Amino acid sequence: MARGLEQTERTREELYRKLPSVNDLILTPDFQRLIETHGRDQVVEAVRARLTELRAGIAGGHCSLEMLEHSLGSIAEQVNALLEAGPNYSLRPVINATGVLLHTNLGRAPLSDAALEHVVNVGRDYCNLELDLETGERSRRDVHIEQLLLRVLGVPEGDTERWSVLVVNNCAAATFLTLNSMAEKHEVVISRGELVEIGGGFRIPEILEKSGAVLKEAGTTNRTRVTDYEAATTEQTALLLRVHQSNFSIEGFVERPSLHELVTLAKTVGVPLFEDQGTGLIAGLEHLGIAHQPTLRNSVELGVDLIAASGDKLLGGPQCGLLVGRQDLIARVRKNPLLRTFRVDKLTYAALEATLLRPESTPLIRMLSAPAEQIERRCREVANAVQTNHLSIAVVPVESVVGGGTAPNATLKSFAVSLRHIHLTAADLLASLRGLDPPLVARIFEDAVLLDLRTVHPRYDATLIRLIDQL
Ligand SMILES: *Cc1c(COP(=O)(O)O)cnc(C)c1O
Repeated sequence: MARGLEQTERTREELYRKLPSVNDLILTPDFQRLIETHGRDQVVEAVRARLTELRAGIAGGHCSLEMLEHSLGSIAEQVNALLEAGPNYSLRPVINATGVLLHTNLGRAPLSDAALEHVVNVGRDYCNLELDLETGERSRRDVHIEQLLLRVLGVPEGDTERWSVLVVNNCAAATFLTLNSMAEKHEVVISRGELVEIGGGFRIPEILEKSGAVLKEAGTTNRTRVTDYEAATTEQTALLLRVHQSNFSIEGFVERPSLHELVTLAKTVGVPLFEDQGTGLIAGLEHLGIAHQPTLRNSVELGVDLIAASGDKLLGGPQCGLLVGRQDLIARVRKNPLLRTFRVDKLTYAALEATLLRPESTPLIRMLSAPAEQIERRCREVANAVQTNHLSIAVVPVESVVGGGTAPNATLKSFAVSLRHIHLTAADLLASLRGLDPPLVARIFEDAVLLDLRTVHPRYDATLIRLIDQL
């Protein structure tokens, strides 16, 4: 036994000695050619990675002299393959075949090409993030999107002076910062029906408490009237708060005042109205079959004093929080020393600016408006092109959902490729799909895995066929 081990040790030593050094390798003509294409640093890194793998193989005892010599004979090709494959990133693109358009686990809204190009341009060089190019003076970052957003929201030309815009990390931050700036140690009146959890630990009562504001409940869970808000308003009231019930709906004996009624009340009692609008939807989606969604344009038109919304939900842009409102109130929020902890970087402004320039041409709008027949045709093309006989494939009607804490009841007619594997259970098949490259994320319905193509960009259809054929 001891002798055997000794021998293995000796063989290992011999094998290790066969490994060339990085320096020797990169001087060979094959590697010099790779350096010309990929640059020295990249090649050195890839060579190191490959040699580390070989060393691990020797250490683990599963590498014979013959195997090692064989590997070393083609090491230039192996390194080339590593370089071609690119870095082994942890964060990478996946194909979303769940049919959930805004999937928080999958990064919510995909960005438009215009947004991505602007991000690359602004990120590659220095930029005028806080520099006024006319005066040479310091300026603020929000100027890059302020007028644009106000125009998109339909604020009339002559009125823009009275409005202002602030961008922070996300809608939760916009809400927290507003409550803290406007109502610390003061009361905020909110309907009991809106003391909700928006998801991922964002609970309105908890955020309110952390902000230092004092919660003043009005009405009941299912019914709250304007008179309830009025009764709850006192000398101590700093804000009336309206929260969009974005991820659930209550039906039956329910009542809540219209936004218009709340605006009127806010004016009467002289307390600003703050709306946590959430979804960032600019204009109605009735033409796409999604009705009764609150829109930013409507809130602005009604004259809500402060409005908070997400950038990466129905606006279809980058993650950020938009705070739009009366110029004097936003100025107060801007003075809050906490603002610095919520500010966003140049890449976010770049993506947001490009998104706002053409809000109708985001991937989200494309997915929302794709006709079901077109999705069905793509499903059939994919199903017909697949060759594997490990699967039974069908095309079935399904319903996509908007998701991401928006439009809880809205569904869109769609189609899916349904997969059943001859050996694997649906759960195992779903897991194998996630292991493909790129990973394919889908859902299970009645023992079949469904690939809803509404959320899959058509440029992936050929990839999809290749991936399914690997199963
Ligand atoms: C989604 C949502 C939020 C949270 O938005 P984030 O941008 O994810 O922080 C807050 N309020 C409402 C009403 C929402 O719909």
